[in-house]
Amino acid sequence: MSFPFTAVVGMDDLRLALLLNAVSPAVGGVLVRGEKGTAKSTSVRALAAVLPPVGVVAGCRFGCDPAAPDPACPDGPHEAGAAARTRPARLVELPVGAAEDRLVGSLDLERALTEGVKAYEPGLLAAAHRGVLYVDEVNLLHDHLVDLLLDAAALGTAYVEREGVSVRHAARFLLVGTMNPEEGELRPQLLDRFGLTVEVAAPRDPAVRAEVVRRRFASDADPAGFAAEWAAEETALAARIADARARLPRVVLSDAALRQVTAVCAAFDVDGLRADLVTARAAIAHAAWCGREEVTEDDVRVAARLALPHRRRRNPFDAPGLDDETLDQALADSRPDDDPEPPDDDSGGPDGGGPDGGGTDGGGPDGGGPDGGGNPGIGGNTYGSDPGTQVKDPLPGDGEVAGEPTTAPRGEGGGHADAAPAREQAAVAPADPFRTRRLEVPGIGAGAAGRRSRARAERGRVVGSTRPEGTVTKLHLPGTVLAAAPHQRARGRRGPGLVVERDDLRQAVLEGREGNLVLFVVDASGSMGARSRMAAVKGAVLSLLLDAYQRRDKVGLITFRGDAAELALPPTWSVEAAAARLTGLPTGGRTPLAAGLLEAHRTLARERVRDPRRRPLLVVVTDGRATGARGGDHLGEARRAAGLLADVAGVVVDCESGPVRLGLAASLGAALGARTMRLEELGADQLAGVVRDSRAA
Ligand SMILES: [Zn+2]
Repeated sequence: MSFPFTAVVGMDDLRLALLLNAVSPAVGGVLVRGEKGTAKSTSVRALAAVLPPVGVVAGCRFGCDPAAPDPACPDGPHEAGAAARTRPARLVELPVGAAEDRLVGSLDLERALTEGVKAYEPGLLAAAHRGVLYVDEVNLLHDHLVDLLLDAAALGTAYVEREGVSVRHAARFLLVGTMNPEEGELRPQLLDRFGLTVEVAAPRDPAVRAEVVRRRFASDADPAGFAAEWAAEETALAARIADARARLPRVVLSDAALRQVTAVCAAFDVDGLRADLVTARAAIAHAAWCGREEVTEDDVRVAARLALPHRRRRNPFDAPGLDDETLDQALADSRPDDDPEPPDDDSGGPDGGGPDGGGTDGGGPDGGGPDGGGNPGIGGNTYGSDPGTQVKDPLPGDGEVAGEPTTAPRGEGGGHADAAPAREQAAVAPADPFRTRRLEVPGIGAGAAGRRSRARAERGRVVGSTRPEGTVTKLHLPGTVLAAAPHQRARGRRGPGLVVERDDLRQAVLEGREGNLVLFVVDASGSMGARSRMAAVKGAVLSLLLDAYQRRDKVGLITFRGDAAELALPPTWSVEAAAARLTGLPTGGRTPLAAGLLEAHRTLARERVRDPRRRPLLVVVTDGRATGARGGDHLGEARRAAGLLADVAGVVVDCESGPVRLGLAASLGAALGARTMRLEELGADQLAGVVRDSRAA
């Protein structure tokens, strides 16, 4: 029994975005961004219960509409007047680690080849047809699943092809994704697929928080009783959705309203026309939701706030959200002259006008006022568009280069000591990032899809064949023929065909690329020299971080200076967080190199347990010096610590500069079994760099 949608407290934007999609699936889905513990998933999962039920052809596994069955339906063709039934709308969850077959369905190649039967088992795309496809942690979805999802979403069709045997079926679904941006950003192509985005945060008002807890307790203690308490609200909301759906075709988008839509999209400088389309559709859905048959300026405002924020972000370091002032200005500028009505005069109107069932006021657009306030009860707009989750911090001496991350470290920080005990020197701003060469882990891994090191993969180029371990997913035809050939006479072959048995089938072995864990160990000590040198070092690490983002790596950051090393950022998907830590990193003091390497050793040991298939790549950024208390053998300690890491692929980025060079970084590289390259050699215009395998293979 899921939590009732109407009992979700706060989350007004999220509920409204989901409801607009429920009214008009053409709006194109919702991406929900927010930290953990904000009940994003609870709210999404609650949606299915209030969606209108769906009529389907009886016995069709692909959810065909009796009024318009899919002509290509694998369970078809369905005759006109075939038996139909009504079932609740579905919400299907795609697990992040799902295999391709689970999503698109599986085609039994063995039966196709040996029996000539096209046996197809539908996947989640078929199950989600005419319903909701929900991906929690959508930002962690494997690349190839993302591609499949994008194709299906764009075409409204799922398509499976294996060695010339293909199946297609309709797959139109409402795509809803939730993500924690701290754990990494979403590919821009995928971002654009979502019609609307919502940023959620836990409510700040203690009274609201208390109500959240109260309802959670009540639901946990007696789920059925709690659901019964809210049943009337749920029914009323479902009726309002059905009512708005019925009204939707009658809603008029006047030329004047359309001009406002396009003016707003132009003002925010969004790419392409997709934004205009989505904004217009969302505005129409909002009008229908509010019980009106004409789109007003208020509808456009609400739609723009939900449809535009993610379309104007140019890179993962841009701040989310929409600037209300720009929005108001664009709306005012595009307002027809013959309509002198002030903008906020009708606030509260839409809500009151709607057939609102009471507490279900997802429709509370609050007249667009920055803080609404018109929302009755506990569901008040307690968080707004929340520009406060990310602080833009122009650093001293920062050149404000476009696209350069200037994000300050986030407040919460997961409990890591962010502030160094003593800051000998203020943080130096990094130099401009550049495109780096690809650093690779040698050998062939088996990690999650990515774009860094060679790996056995579900996609890629064919490098050989093997006996299948389970069912054949990618047939290796030459291997199969070669396996079958010696047995033809014994099997009594006659005629042109080859006699193929199940045992002959060979699976293709594919090689693609995996993502890695790139663990940076950055020397922030005084020995690293002048501010300009530290800016170059930070610029280089930042460049490697951007590269890691593109290659879908996990990243971690260890720094050492003064008396100790610090795990400044435990391995994470958030390159954004890593960039913030790096930018704010103070420098100066002694050089506890051994401590930095030991911390790396500990971190990698932990990660090996947590994510064993992800191979690490250690990037040590240092001049190779080691200092500490007088009399200690600091270099010797560093060498011994390096020995612990000798089985990890690594590279030492030598930051030594000046006319007299000690070459200490190179000897550290030798102790690590890692290749050493100078800072200046990191650029992509250098020859491709493969990290030397420390293990003599
Ligand atoms: Zn069908």
